[in-house]
Order: sequence, then C-alpha cells, then structure tokens
Amino acid sequence: MIVKSAEFICSNTRVDKLPDPLLPEYAFIGRSNVGKSSLINSLVNQKGLAKTSQSPGKTQLINHFLINNDWYLVDLPGYGYAKSSKSNRSDWEKFIRRYLRDRENLQCVFVLIDSRHEPQKIDTDFCCWLGENGIPFMLIFTKADKQSRVKSDQNVAKFRKRLSTWFEEIPQTFITSSETNLGCDEVLSVIAEINQGFEKPNLIDRPTFALKDPDSKDLDSHYDSTKSYDISFDPPSVANSEDPDQEGLV
Ligand code: GDP
Repeated sequence: MIVKSAEFICSNTRVDKLPDPLLPEYAFIGRSNVGKSSLINSLVNQKGLAKTSQSPGKTQLINHFLINNDWYLVDLPGYGYAKSSKSNRSDWEKFIRRYLRDRENLQCVFVLIDSRHEPQKIDTDFCCWLGENGIPFMLIFTKADKQSRVKSDQNVAKFRKRLSTWFEEIPQTFITSSETNLGCDEVLSVIAEINQGFEKPNLIDRPTFALKDPDSKDLDSHYDSTKSYDISFDPPSVANSEDPDQEGLV
C-alpha cells in the first residue's frame, strides 16, 4: 500500500465521541517509549503526524488518523508508567479496555515491543488480555536498527516461545525500524489485505453501547490534561511469566 494521505481527525477521552465506525480501524499500542510515534510517522511517511518525544507516558488520548481516506490508524496511550492516581488510572483503563473490546470496526491491534529486550511481563500480560477478550492482534518489534538482526530474531523467538505458553497459535510478527523503514511495507500490506474484507456495519441497527454504559458517561470530568495517564492491565489468570526488568527500559 502506498500512503498518499494521512490526516489527524480527533483526540478523545470518550468512547461515545469516537468517529463513526464506518472504516476499518487499526490500533497501535505498546509500552511507553517503545517507538510507537516514530513507527506511525514512518508508516504514513509524515515526520510530525504522531508526536515523538523522550518523555514517557505523553500520549494521553485516543488519537484517530485517517489514512488514504480509507482506514483509521489509532494511536493509543502507552502503558507501563503508573504516574497517575489509582482512581484516575482506573477510569482511564476502563476507557481503553472498553475501546478495545467494543470498537466494532477495530480490525487488529498492533502490539509494539522493543526488539532489544527479552520478553517482558507487562507485554505478555497485555497480549493475554487481548487473547482472553478475543481481540485480534499482531506483534511489531521496534528499533531493530539498534542491534544485529540475529539479536532481534532471538528476542522475537523468545517472545513467541513465551506466548506459546498460553496461545495455541502465535500471532503474526514484524521486525521494524523507523530509522530504516524496515518492516513498514509488510505492516501496510497486511492492513491493505484486511481492508479488502471489511464490511461496513449498519449504523441504523447499531447499539449505542457507549451511551448506555454508565461507566463511559463522563470520563472528561475525571480527566486532568496536566497529568500523565497510563494504562495497566490486570495480569491474566493464566499468565505467570517473570519480568526480568519491569522498570527502566529505554
Ligand atoms: P513512543 O513513546 O512509543 O511514542 O516512542 P517514540 O516514537 O517517541 O520513540 C522513543 C525514542 O526512541 C525516541 O528518541 C525515538 O527517536 C527513538 N526511536 C523510536 N523508534 C526508533 C527506531 O526504530 N530506531 C532508533 N534508532 N530509535 C528509535
């Protein structure tokens, strides 16, 4: 797929304010600082579309970008840094979980993982949570230019092996670099392929799930734009992987 246009559409803290689900949608999520903004910019070939910075936990909203007038790319907040208060965090978590579980046009979640590291519990927990909820996902290993291909391959193999503890089938994996654009064509090809099978939902019959859910009514009143929000996920009951390096990555 050639990306001819990429346009910022909206940032949201409320599920009921998301764009109508009339186009196929792909969400990008990962640990803070994993290289998500850089990868999004590389995929769409626009340096400043998603904001890149060194400060973790900066993406606080669900950001929708319209690509080629044909599909939505969604930039989700990074997980892994618990700076916000517990109550704010749980409101925020609920919002992201609801988005991931209920967004009817969501075709696939791309879970970004730093290719330089051994499997991390926070990432395997999140994959298990997606699996438990039947949410389709694929794995994108980032920053591959920072070490040898052999090293990246080894870390991918370890991650796949770890996931095989819980999953019968391991999702598709990509090794990428936003410095060299490695893997970007592959990710875009998969998106193009899935787009072909997308069927528009019938909005007339659409349940207004977000409005009827009391939890989603007024998250804006809890949202403090001066704070840094992050999401975390309950470890799934099946997961018991060890985390050799929970904090201080990158
Ligand atoms: P985010 O927090 O996940 O959005 O991560 P960013 O995209 O802001 O990247 C975090 C840091 O890693 C920045 O300093 C980027 O320049 C750097 N970075 C991201 N992707 C790559 C990559 O593929 N290769 C290299 N060498 N650095 C990268």
